[in-house]
Amino acid sequence: MPDALFDRVAIIGIGLIGSSLARVLRRDNPQTRIVACARRAETLAAVERLGIADEVTDDPAAAVERADLVVIATPLSAYAEIGRRIAPSLQDGAIVTDVGSVKGAAIAALHAVLPDRAHFVPGHPVAGTEHSGPEAGFAEMFRDRWCILTPLPETAPDAVAKVAALWEMAGMRVATMAPDHHDKVLAVTSHLPHLIAYTIVGTATQLGEDLQSEVVAYSAGGFRDFTRIAASDPIMWRDVFLTNREAVLELLQRFSEDLTALQRAIRRGDGEILHDWFTRTRAIRRSIIEAKQA
Ligand code: NAP
Repeated sequence: MPDALFDRVAIIGIGLIGSSLARVLRRDNPQTRIVACARRAETLAAVERLGIADEVTDDPAAAVERADLVVIATPLSAYAEIGRRIAPSLQDGAIVTDVGSVKGAAIAALHAVLPDRAHFVPGHPVAGTEHSGPEAGFAEMFRDRWCILTPLPETAPDAVAKVAALWEMAGMRVATMAPDHHDKVLAVTSHLPHLIAYTIVGTATQLGEDLQSEVVAYSAGGFRDFTRIAASDPIMWRDVFLTNREAVLELLQRFSEDLTALQRAIRRGDGEILHDWFTRTRAIRRSIIEAKQA
């Protein structure tokens, strides 16, 4: 059996993402000891039932003792408190990484509270579903997706390489970029689409009752695809919009200008503008398919 990447991994927050990573470790590095940490007894019981951790605890400080890797996979709003609680218990040379969807906020919450003896490697596996909790996880979720690492200038290259190796083991391609650049890119590819889906589905729920039942019956016309995105975890997405505020607001400004332009084209009956616009967007879909990200 090849050497495991890590001897003892503490996963703080064992929901969709944390439990999927635990399954990867179980599959590819079975000799690694996994300690899972969550708040609720139901979550810890589910983890034990699923057999995806060797130990479970509701105490983040106890979870990280003797761990050579700590993965923070809770909603972003819990990061600062978790950072404060784990800091005194981290062993010398421990690597701390996270999976949060907004990197500026993850770094702001953790960097100042983590001790110098630990190596902090902020990360974001860009993979997921609209489901939550440990039962929803699966090891194959990461395959062929991108993981973005946003190390700080002082982060030790060896620590970055080990975290990259972990996500590669999960089947991901790994890229490195500056945290603010990550947050701008994700505002376009993930945050704005979620906000639009939440808006469209929210608008539909405010229609009269008769129309609402028809919305459900005829949802295959496009609405259904938005409902999947708009079913995503409310806490996670609240935190994304509160923490990536600037990038999302800037993009929303552009989006509403474009929406107004299309609105004007429809009102004026300007088919050329609509046709040109839809032709350009179709090309984007083709390039996503070619990049095998469809
Ligand atoms: P999730 O399924 O809701 O799981 C969250 C986990 O965090 C649960 O185990 C929860 O425990 C635990 N938790 C919450 N607050 C905590 C606290 N104060 N202290 C300790 N544990 C706490 O969430 P997820 O979808 O895996 O998302 C986790 C992180 O991954 C987020 O930061 C998100 O931005 C990022 N992410 C998500 C996706 C996605 O598609 N979902 C994709 C990439 C990255 P309890 O069950 O006990 O409450």
